[in-house]
Amino acid sequence: KKRIFSAIQPSGDITLGNYLGALKNWVSLQDSYDCIFALADLHTITVRQKPADLRHHTLNAYALLLACGIDPKRSLFFLQSHVPAHSQLAWILNCYTQFGELQRMTQFKDKSKKHADNVNAGLFTYPSLMAADILLYQTDFVPVGEDQTQHLELTRNIAERFNNAYSPTFTLPAAFVGKEGKRIMSLQDPSHKMSKSDENVNGCVYVLDKPDDIMRKFKRAITDSEASVHYGEGKDGINNLMEIYSCITGETFDQIEHDFSGKGYGDFKAAVGEAVIEHLRPIQERFAQYSSDRDYMEQYWNDGAEKAARIANRTLQKVMKKVGFIPPH
Ligand code: ATP
Ligand code: MG
Repeated sequence: KKRIFSAIQPSGDITLGNYLGALKNWVSLQDSYDCIFALADLHTITVRQKPADLRHHTLNAYALLLACGIDPKRSLFFLQSHVPAHSQLAWILNCYTQFGELQRMTQFKDKSKKHADNVNAGLFTYPSLMAADILLYQTDFVPVGEDQTQHLELTRNIAERFNNAYSPTFTLPAAFVGKEGKRIMSLQDPSHKMSKSDENVNGCVYVLDKPDDIMRKFKRAITDSEASVHYGEGKDGINNLMEIYSCITGETFDQIEHDFSGKGYGDFKAAVGEAVIEHLRPIQERFAQYSSDRDYMEQYWNDGAEKAARIANRTLQKVMKKVGFIPPH
């Protein structure tokens, strides 16, 4: 079986963008791949977090991923900070990553504008930690949204450079961007992607939002003045709603245009809201069960971390030997 690695940051409440762009795909990939999933809590502190918030978001994300269908009996599912090899390899890879390469990363440019008061070195070297996450597990495929393809390209470059400088060490990972949901935009500003850490909560639908809130957010979504449901240029808002509707219902854009021809945006927005609410309902119910059972979660994240560390340490030891470090025993 080919191996998959992917991770999500516990940096806020999980959005519909995360779900459609990543989590929904992760769940179905478990059938055909050897899957490793992590909560990237080390990445999360690149933006200042209140400790209580980080704990809360981590616990919630773990329970929510279980509720979405991540199955820890089939897949490894752990917290990044529980496996020290991630930090250890990240340091080494930092020394094989150029300043100029990191400077070109659009996520760094966006986030350093957004958090101008805290442009820390971790935010800058975020991609070398992400490279370590992926390369430690000899990953074949990394399912991500479109926002992460640049980071993945850099990961490949770092891996290739290391392999060429020494000898084949890392598997070169390929991006696995789903056909649908690769980039869900904010409902309030469809030129920006929906993000967990966005301060405009009306632009984000959260997977755990109450049905009334979901409907209200869709009804207020920014559209255009044309009042015709079809996919087209200058219709970012409607395009985004069609993308969401299509991901949830499986309908093609042609079908949607046909079903809503002659109908107004109000009807369409209500239909999208209703479809999302019904899709999320069972996930929310399962979340309520998992999140109240800390022991259950603990058993799986401990087991996941132990197994992950065994795989990760094999790669780390190879790397350290090739670089020239003397093994401790
Ligand atoms: P943050 O604002 O803290 O960066 P985020 O919402 O961007 O949070 P991440 O934890 O960075 O979420 O990414 C988790 C996964 O979700 C990644 O695979 C990423 O590609 C995907 N993803 C994030 N935002 C979207 C989006 N708007 N549409 C589709 N996929 C997305
Ligand atoms: Mg992000």
